Amino acid sequence: MLGLMQDWPLLCHRIIDHAAIQHGARPVVTRSVEGPIHTTNYADIRKRALKVAQRLDRDGIKLGDRVATLAWNTWRHLECWYGILGIGAIYHTVNPRLFAEQICWIVNHAEDRMMFVDLTFLPILEKHAHGLKTIERYVVLTDAAHMPKTTLKNAVAYEEWIAEADGDFAWKSFDENTAAGMCYTSGTTGNPKGVLYSHRSNVLHAFMASLPDAKGIAARDVVLPVVPLFHANCWSLAFSTPLTGASLILPGAKLDGPSIYELLDTYKVTFTAGVPTVWLALLQELEKTGAKLPHLKRIVIGGSASPRAMTQKFQDSYGVEVIHAWGMTEMSPLGSLCTMKPEYAALTGEAKLDIQMKQGHPPFGVEMKITDDKGKNLPWDGKTFGRLKVRGPAVARRYFKDDSEILDQEGFFDTGDVATMDPHGYMQITDRSKDVIKSGGEWISSIDLENLAVGHPKVAEAAVIGVQHPKWDERPLLVVVLKKDQRASKDEILAFMQGKIAKWWMPDDVAFVEEIPHTATGKILKTELRERFKDYRLPVQ
Ligand code: ADP
Repeated sequence: MLGLMQDWPLLCHRIIDHAAIQHGARPVVTRSVEGPIHTTNYADIRKRALKVAQRLDRDGIKLGDRVATLAWNTWRHLECWYGILGIGAIYHTVNPRLFAEQICWIVNHAEDRMMFVDLTFLPILEKHAHGLKTIERYVVLTDAAHMPKTTLKNAVAYEEWIAEADGDFAWKSFDENTAAGMCYTSGTTGNPKGVLYSHRSNVLHAFMASLPDAKGIAARDVVLPVVPLFHANCWSLAFSTPLTGASLILPGAKLDGPSIYELLDTYKVTFTAGVPTVWLALLQELEKTGAKLPHLKRIVIGGSASPRAMTQKFQDSYGVEVIHAWGMTEMSPLGSLCTMKPEYAALTGEAKLDIQMKQGHPPFGVEMKITDDKGKNLPWDGKTFGRLKVRGPAVARRYFKDDSEILDQEGFFDTGDVATMDPHGYMQITDRSKDVIKSGGEWISSIDLENLAVGHPKVAEAAVIGVQHPKWDERPLLVVVLKKDQRASKDEILAFMQGKIAKWWMPDDVAFVEEIPHTATGKILKTELRERFKDYRLPVQ
């Protein structure tokens, strides 16, 4: 027997409808790419998204067509997302930090028909546009006054382009399993892989993301997504913020410490989210100027492990609660958030920080297990680590144009991460399966060592890689970037780590470098580091 409730497909554009009706006047503020601050609200975003939809429809963009965006977090980019998905086409966020060759590969693979692009990226795009075979037209996200001369095919200024639509248009209707968005994984190994979100998965994921023990965003919040719309579906913020009716502050092209601080302060931001590298820059700015963060209540740190020292600094010096989070493009992307269950809620100081180093517990809608290499379940004792596998309505079951089976027999997806689970269901990443250091048949977590090393007051950033060892197979090498104008010796760094980890985990050597390479999404590029140190000889004991 079927239930007797209404059929109300979970379509993403219903989110912007709700925001426009219930929270229509709520400010959406952007630091525009052109420079000045721009203010609008959800009602106007919806109106203009409908114009985008109408105009795309008139340009012949159909259900299932891919439309690329190469753009910063701005109100125009948000309008494009909703306009594109509102006719059943697919927003495809392209990460501008990728190499031009990777961008071409991704756009061609996705067969994007149009591209919305910010002014920032025109020069590089013009150089490579001949390689973008399927793009029929470029819409430059600016007005006529700022529109430069460009060689891009059929280029038009966004404001002129939507001015040709009157907005007398209705969203299209289709099945909730229709594709809505697309994002390629960074592809640090092999070619990037396309993840295809559906309307249903995005809407369910936005509900999950908004729960009190997830991001817990309310209409009273002011949200600043530092995480770009092009990074893993913007960690849901493009959906969960309008869904909850919170005000939205968009940083445009400027993600440096002073610019982010200015927005946090001016607009009394209460909630923000981004990768550790961004927060490193903000903390340096705060230390330099002595400024405080009186309005900011919560900060979600994810994408890479949040260093202990960073979590502590935000909480103890600035009174901002850190929510450590883990996820991946294939998971829409949220997998777990480290908010406190009653079992841990009373903890303070170092004991609380110990828990906050974990990536947290999954919200409803994400199931987790850890297994050995043969697929056997491992215990949730907080110590045993194994392959982390996940299942849920917002987790990928296949990649775009790829028939490979990516789920196990129980329908779980192998995340490629290695983790422990504790008795209260908190997950802690110990490594990427390809980064873990295999020493004498045992595993050493590179992340644990990195977290420890960055706790040293002179260390700005640290990375640990395994290097060849005649007896142990691999041993850890600690690569360190010192803070500006600091000097330190190898012994000084190692002495700091002594006693805080098992003896056999101690790095065999420390290499001081000027800079550690990062991926386009701010993760340490271990492949490049390994390449650089491939002939490195560890000191003989
Ligand atoms: P991108 O490289 O584009 O950021 P993803 O967001 O899909 O791609 O990367 C997901 C991976 O990032 C995870 O599988 C995990 O290895 C890593 N990651 C994400 N959040 C954390 C975290 N809080 N701690 C440690 N690793 C993390």
